Amino acid sequence: MIGGSFYERKSYSTCYMCACRCGIEVYVRNNKVTYIKGNDEHPTNRGVLCAKGSSGIMKEYSPARLKKPLLRVGPRGSGQFVEIEWEEAFRIATQWLEEARKKGPYKIAFFTGRDQMQAINSWFASQLGTINWAAHGGFCSVNIAASGLYSIGGSFWEFGEADFEHTKYFMLIGVAEDHSSNPFKLGIQEMKRKGGKFVVVNPVRWGYGAVADEWVPIKPGTDGAFFMGIMHALFKYNLINWEFLKEYTNAPWLVIQAPGTSKDGLFYRNEEGKPMVFDKKSNSFKSADRIVPEDLDPAFIGEFTTPEGYKVRPAFDIFAERLVKDYEPEKVEKITGIPAKDIERIAKEMGSIALYHPIELPIEWTDVWGRRHKKVIGRPVSFHVMRGVASHTNGFQTARAIFLLMMLLGVVDVPGGFLNKPPYPKHIEDLPKPYKISKPDEIKYGEVYPGPHLGYPQNPDDLLVDQKGNPIRIDWAYSWWFPLTAHGCIQNVIPAAYQQNPYGIEVLMIYMANMAWNSSQNIPYILKALTATDPSGNYIIPRIITIDAFYSEQVAYSDLVLPDATYLEQWFALSLLDRPPSAVDGPVDALRHPIVDPVANGYDVKGWGDVMVEIGSRLKLPGFVNEDGTRKYKDFKDFLINWQVKPGVGALAGWRGKNGDKHFVGEPNPNQLEMYIKNKGFFYYKLPEHMRYYRHVNKDYQEWAVSVGFIKKVAPITFNFYLETLQTFRLAGQGLWEGKNQPPNDPVLRDRLVKYFDPLPFWYPPFEEEVSGEEYPLYAFTQRPQWMYHSWDSQNAWLRQISSRNYLYMNPKTAQKLGIKHLDWVWVESRVGKVKCQAFLTNTTEPNSVWTWNAIGKMKGTWGLKPEAEEGHEGFLLNHVVPHSININGREVYYGDPITGHLAWFDTKVKVYKAEDQTPETYPQFEVEPLDYIKERWVPVLRYKP
Ligand code: SF4
Repeated sequence: MIGGSFYERKSYSTCYMCACRCGIEVYVRNNKVTYIKGNDEHPTNRGVLCAKGSSGIMKEYSPARLKKPLLRVGPRGSGQFVEIEWEEAFRIATQWLEEARKKGPYKIAFFTGRDQMQAINSWFASQLGTINWAAHGGFCSVNIAASGLYSIGGSFWEFGEADFEHTKYFMLIGVAEDHSSNPFKLGIQEMKRKGGKFVVVNPVRWGYGAVADEWVPIKPGTDGAFFMGIMHALFKYNLINWEFLKEYTNAPWLVIQAPGTSKDGLFYRNEEGKPMVFDKKSNSFKSADRIVPEDLDPAFIGEFTTPEGYKVRPAFDIFAERLVKDYEPEKVEKITGIPAKDIERIAKEMGSIALYHPIELPIEWTDVWGRRHKKVIGRPVSFHVMRGVASHTNGFQTARAIFLLMMLLGVVDVPGGFLNKPPYPKHIEDLPKPYKISKPDEIKYGEVYPGPHLGYPQNPDDLLVDQKGNPIRIDWAYSWWFPLTAHGCIQNVIPAAYQQNPYGIEVLMIYMANMAWNSSQNIPYILKALTATDPSGNYIIPRIITIDAFYSEQVAYSDLVLPDATYLEQWFALSLLDRPPSAVDGPVDALRHPIVDPVANGYDVKGWGDVMVEIGSRLKLPGFVNEDGTRKYKDFKDFLINWQVKPGVGALAGWRGKNGDKHFVGEPNPNQLEMYIKNKGFFYYKLPEHMRYYRHVNKDYQEWAVSVGFIKKVAPITFNFYLETLQTFRLAGQGLWEGKNQPPNDPVLRDRLVKYFDPLPFWYPPFEEEVSGEEYPLYAFTQRPQWMYHSWDSQNAWLRQISSRNYLYMNPKTAQKLGIKHLDWVWVESRVGKVKCQAFLTNTTEPNSVWTWNAIGKMKGTWGLKPEAEEGHEGFLLNHVVPHSININGREVYYGDPITGHLAWFDTKVKVYKAEDQTPETYPQFEVEPLDYIKERWVPVLRYKP
């Protein structure tokens, strides 16, 4: 027994300290959490718990915890609030929302942080009638997610992961150690014990890099060139899995070569609209959907003339020409700093393992064409990619390059390669599209925005733009400027609302996202936007409602604060409808439930779910009331049990049906949540082995996936080697798109569509190169330390023992050239501002980069920290110097990837120089007034001292 007298009861839940969502056991005595350990039976962590997970306990005792709803009484940002009762808070919130709805539901912008029940919150926004909802993906990982979904119908992280059990070569690209924390530790350990090779591509050797067999010290923003160079070498040495390309990708499909016409760059199709290949066997054009080995032998190289007179080339041929011409390793070396011989060696290593060291597993399976296979062939090379690639203006195309590399090697959905986690993969053509309206006020007061808010446009006609081509959403998502936004652009909301472009809003509602600090860029500008007034003295962003459990910078800049309960005090679903903690072996969803009662512990707080139900019911939003106008849901527990997004499908998939005997689809079960609790907080539906691999063409898996609603049909998921969707936007830029939506006649915008919407990946320099040039020679970026996932962790006493301030890490040779010594105070200056901080010299940083830990620097007065705490004096926030916009040929544009809008915060370029004044104080510093009761808590908290 663990804990002995330290507990009276134990409960099972899901960790919230990072996005891995490990299973936990929580020990409680006297309504206080006394201990947390890993749940041995949980598929994500198999009992492992990291330091963050254990430290979740200290969130309960944080000095930054809010006790009651707050109403601002001083100027915004002063930190002057009065505490109010919940009844008054509900009255004010509903009044503000109601007034805004009457002016037009789109006047409400509701944006949420990470992992916040996205399906339910999107639905809530729909009930309000607003189109303006999104979560945090715009600055997190949308380039990877969107690129993966469009390329292979899946992606990394919750979408899929390396098959650590069988892989022999694992490459981790641009991944900080906070990502996939416990699963990676377990996986890398397993792979290395079996003798596999672990390679890290990153400007920094840290975290996982410490145990890597090889570090590839890439210059930031050049990963795309590196992977194009790798593919050049694979092509040169014929280390290509042709069978895989032929059967599962559109690489042999024929592309029309007719520049200046509306057909240029589109697939050559027959009368039924089916894409065509050139069959070498019959020397004729054949429909591509007949590709099975015995039927066709499609050409990959060559140019052909169709009976209609079109010149056509296989997509692969166009790509091969590009690889040969532009990406010789010697050229790539000049861009990336990685020696040409290493690029060739790495290509040969991964190519020969994939092709000449296959795995054969004796698992019988059937493909969607009805062919029975006696075994599963694996290609044991795997990858994982995250923000280091995503957060650049070339992030989408770089991620595309990596997905094409995976196709060339044939390592998608195979043993030893990348494996999808259900409900992925999805048929790319069936991915949801954002629900289309043609003007912001199309949805009227009392109407529901049908949703979905987010999705994957297939061509320009799916954009959310008005007749003039202006954005319909406040964040500019799905506009001509950021067409394939996929996750929305949370980072644009405050600047857009401040500039009232495309329009002003009435209420900004933020749920667990620190938009006034580390989740925004160019903070002095953001604080100006939050506090700017019109000539009458009214705030330009009139009302800000924040939902958070702690006294953050965002809370300090709010008008009404609805204090959230902690993750151990509220009902919360980790749903298959949005970001489930699924495993490769089968779908998983999970529950959090109130393990301790916050009110009994002196915190008059409510979980957001309960608040949402209360607000929705009081406003009588359509989904919250019965036909007779009476309230539909008693509270959020009742909502979780009975809410259905469509008949039989609710937030949780396990134990549905009246008696709990149905899974995935079934009527609500009044005892469902108790059944989750009894099953240690999660639902895991393990699939048989023959459904584990080749899911993109695995008949049994797909039939099952159709039966539970994950996909719509049993059919091959053809991987998009060539992404025709991008070509449709390029045609629009050229004035050749024949659809309804046409881009404004703006040469800057049109040029952008033509230049970047290439259906095959290519590398281009990050945008900042052009505007910052040689004056700002170094790349500056942040990453999260493994011990602190978010800004929330600086108020965690145990984690704060590890670091209470950050440094600027730089290479000693770079420092020497600049006359900077270890621990000197330096200025880091970009084109938008400068910060003063302390340099830390380390060979683990490549010479063109400087970097620091994210979100350790704090605004004084926030997070329950004493005014003299290091976080406010010596810790610093690099975000101050990260541009939020860029001037392109006289046009100010939000700083993001031109395809997805992903905030390109790792593009930032700086110069670094020694500060004349070596006083150990950071600059700039900001300050707000702490709440009185937070001041009172400064002393008694265990080991919680500056
Ligand atoms: S890896 Fe993440 S989810 Fe798992 S225990 Fe650590 S903090 Fe919690």
